[in-house]
Amino acid sequence: MSDGTTYKAPKTNSMAAISTYVVISIGVFIYGLFKIESTLLFKVALLITGVLIFTLLEYIFHRFVYHSGDDYLAEENWQYKVHGVHHVHPTDKDLLAMPIPLAILLSSIFFGIFWLLMGVNTFFFWPGFFIGYAAYLYVHYIVHTHKPPSNALKILWSHHHLHHYVYDDKAYGVSSPLWDVIFGTMPPKGQPIPRQKRRKASKQ
Ligand SMILES: [Zn+2]
Ligand SMILES: [Zn+2]
Repeated sequence: MSDGTTYKAPKTNSMAAISTYVVISIGVFIYGLFKIESTLLFKVALLITGVLIFTLLEYIFHRFVYHSGDDYLAEENWQYKVHGVHHVHPTDKDLLAMPIPLAILLSSIFFGIFWLLMGVNTFFFWPGFFIGYAAYLYVHYIVHTHKPPSNALKILWSHHHLHHYVYDDKAYGVSSPLWDVIFGTMPPKGQPIPRQKRRKASKQ
């Protein structure tokens, strides 16, 4: 496909990435279940909080980091390499996830940060955080590789399609529209959802 760009983004199989992260997260959580004293309710609450905090960070990164700068669609900008390339090639299913070694490295850094903040409770919070990332990858994969599903994922499908094809300054949440509601970046209601892939011109 000739679109004038030359940057070759690294390819990653989303399903391989998702399974790896789920297995690691479950392993760490089970370790915590058996090795660390505290109530099951507390452990599960930390797990759920980890998921929630991931969705917040996902929103913040997408809105304020990936879409920062003058033009995230310009190949010379670093924003293009981490995100713009996906906006230019939204249906390339191998460009939906960062390389697995990089994700493991970043998640390890987050593990260290959480450890400094909450000590052994990291064994419950971090798996939630990493499963949140896996869930994000799964939703993103379904949105870009399937027709609109007839289940609950349809809301997320429509939300993310609006971000790609109508408003690149709205609908930043992929795994949930929650933070778009809270921070006022929901797209207007009643907008028809485009089904065709179309690269829209940058408005920035
Ligand atoms: Zn985006
Ligand atoms: Zn996308």
